[in-house]
Amino acid sequence: MQAQQQTLLRDAMRRLNMTRDAFANRIGVSRRALDTWLLPDESAESRAMPEIASRYVMELVERIPSGDEYTQRVYSPSILHEGRPHLLSVDQFSRDSVEALFQVADTMQPIARRQKITRVLEGAVLANLFFEASTRTRVSFGAAFCRLGGSVCDTTGFTFSSMAKGESIYDTSRVISGYADALVVRHPEKGSVAEFVRATNVPVINAGDGPGEHPSQALLDLYTIQREFSRVGKIVDGSHIAMVGDLKYGRTVHSLAKLLALYRGLKFTLISPTSLEMPASILDQITRGDHVIEQTNDLQTGLKGADVVYATRIQKERFADESIEGYTPDFQINQALVDSVCGPDTLIMHPLPRDGRPGANDLSTDLNHDPRLAIFRQTDNGIPVRMAIFAVLLGVERQVQHSMRDAAWKSPAYIGPDDAVFHGID
Ligand code: ASP
Repeated sequence: MQAQQQTLLRDAMRRLNMTRDAFANRIGVSRRALDTWLLPDESAESRAMPEIASRYVMELVERIPSGDEYTQRVYSPSILHEGRPHLLSVDQFSRDSVEALFQVADTMQPIARRQKITRVLEGAVLANLFFEASTRTRVSFGAAFCRLGGSVCDTTGFTFSSMAKGESIYDTSRVISGYADALVVRHPEKGSVAEFVRATNVPVINAGDGPGEHPSQALLDLYTIQREFSRVGKIVDGSHIAMVGDLKYGRTVHSLAKLLALYRGLKFTLISPTSLEMPASILDQITRGDHVIEQTNDLQTGLKGADVVYATRIQKERFADESIEGYTPDFQINQALVDSVCGPDTLIMHPLPRDGRPGANDLSTDLNHDPRLAIFRQTDNGIPVRMAIFAVLLGVERQVQHSMRDAAWKSPAYIGPDDAVFHGID
């Protein structure tokens, strides 16, 4: 029951673009009361909001801003690539359509948390085509589809696919489309996933095209930033985002930077070794907004004042003639550095995997018990966001809310050993 009230409140704050404090003020209640209304049902301090308050919030939502066009856009999320339902790039999104998608993701939360089940995609089949290494993206797209009631077929690597026999992308795409209702594709060449689209009318999702884009990762990253910010009373507009590492080949930062640029007045600090700087085409796109962009290779200075530190792995598998072997220790984000330059609310993110090999100097595991490390909350958010993507592409997003039933099995209250810290405060 309270899940609906949380969705309503989150949606209202997001669409009004208000922090928790500002929103509590706007609806005339104390911040403490608002916090208890936002707690999950299982928290002992969770409270149902009075009927009059929820009616008032609903009225506020209905009134924002004026015009049917806006309301319709917000409540009818669509992900269209050239008029067809495919997800290839974050360039397909406006700020409104991102918010609308996140609203759908919020409705998926009780399912992602294993409290509810739905069968809205019963009978549908997903083809997960991964021609490049993956753990999280492949499994979480698969799990998201299953949690909506569908089934998944997988193929991994070139060696065991007909591409090893010289089959074209066009033929593979057309053939698989005869078997499945959606295609999730990862391929090592930039632009290659768009080629799958040419041969099919079945929705195609880009799960990473070489150094190009990784739109679903950027969406779950932004969703995480918003959720974490809402806990500490911040909003995306005006925030300071530090991106660290291989910004040249890291497709997650390419997509995330473009998506964040839909917001207002951000400061981007781009910290990388000189040979791995952000490509000019992405810089070009983000400079079109009212953002401040700083580029540096000094980690200590670059991280100062950041609301989000987004670390990345060196994408050695994509190197052309770069001679760099791994990060030097002065590029490593670790507990000592975070304690000395970051604030108590700074979020530490990473798309994962972290390269744990000696000499890699990727994001340190000594931060594992620091609540500022949001990497596992990030991966958890991959499920509701990817469920939302499927639901919207396949046109079932409006059926989910009414189709939910209680889950019959028992799952742990906290998925990971450090999750208890966050229990009840998101
Ligand atoms: N998993 C992310 C990707 O596929 C990040 C990485 O591999 O470093 O792009």
